[in-house]
Amino acid sequence: MVKFPEASARMYRNIFVCRKCKKKMKSTARKINLKLLICRGCGAKVFRPVRKAKT
Ligand SMILES: [Zn+2]
Repeated sequence: MVKFPEASARMYRNIFVCRKCKKKMKSTARKINLKLLICRGCGAKVFRPVRKAKT
């Protein structure tokens, strides 16, 4: 299996994680900025990109 950075960037770019309940949500950065994305788990509007999800 070949891994290349472009593919993982494509996979993770549009996925965000709820800061409260850590649920993953598929969205766009634009929706995050406009706070249009609401967590299905807890209703929070604060998200972070999934790439920092090491903690
Ligand atoms: Zn949540």
